[in-house]
Amino acid sequence: MPVVPMTEILGPAFEKRYGVGAFNIVNDLTMGAVLDAAVQTNSPVIIQVSVKTVKMFGAKLIQKMFEEMASNVPVPATLHLDHCPDVKMIKTCLDAGWNSVLFDASNLNYEDNLRQTKEVVAMARKCGAAVEGELEAVRGVEDGVGSETEGEIVPLDKCIEFLDQTGIDSFAPAIGTAHGLYKSAPKIDFDRVRQIVSKRPTPIVLHGGTGLSDDVFKRLIAEGCAKVNISTMLKITYCDGYRTYLEAKPQEHDPLKLMVSVREKVVTMAKGFMEVFGSVGTANAVCSSGKSNGESVDF
Ligand SMILES: [Zn+2]
Repeated sequence: MPVVPMTEILGPAFEKRYGVGAFNIVNDLTMGAVLDAAVQTNSPVIIQVSVKTVKMFGAKLIQKMFEEMASNVPVPATLHLDHCPDVKMIKTCLDAGWNSVLFDASNLNYEDNLRQTKEVVAMARKCGAAVEGELEAVRGVEDGVGSETEGEIVPLDKCIEFLDQTGIDSFAPAIGTAHGLYKSAPKIDFDRVRQIVSKRPTPIVLHGGTGLSDDVFKRLIAEGCAKVNISTMLKITYCDGYRTYLEAKPQEHDPLKLMVSVREKVVTMAKGFMEVFGSVGTANAVCSSGKSNGESVDF
């Protein structure tokens, strides 16, 4: 299936109140594994990449790899840049054909954030790409971006003004979730999601998904969180996958067997989230055509 714009994935999800997983991949193996999970569950999927990973591989290589992999699966997929405060890097990704970006200007004051987000939206529109906007910093540090301290909450009328004036496609408000692992049960602000969505029906983005209970996921998705970010759990699954395999088989030196084992664990992890988010079987809500490469590889 050809690569699908972010808005075509989030539109039906928001309308029908299911969540689409946005997994922060770290390389080709994890990108392939997340796409495979989407195929196995017939889910739409968002391949999300942090700035740190873009710096490691380059925006063009990641986009080419994504285009090749995504065009060979029968489910809709889109490529999104996570938390990026750097307009230059956003431009590099948009020029390379990325589908969507999160312009993270949450460290700026309201007026500067508003002005710069408008500029990023204008830039993205020229490339047919979508923009996720953020007003308040999501608590916790992720790949070197963010802060451990709670930011100031922007009043509802200012949030609505921000949505109206910027024309962003999705919005990531602070709702009590945090990046990384939760040290204690988070206090989730379900009302805030409800209030924003009731004023402006905009897909809300849930950051800090790792560690939330199934019940919290389901309630937030029911309120309008259509994009659900999973980063920490992918990293844990990936690293622990290698660790477990190598500890169990210290004499094994076949890299492909090792990678297949890790890949399977990432597929299982992603499928589990897709089931909780309710995206299973919804791929056709986005588009009913597409082809499968139908190939499997044995090692
Ligand atoms: Zn985030």
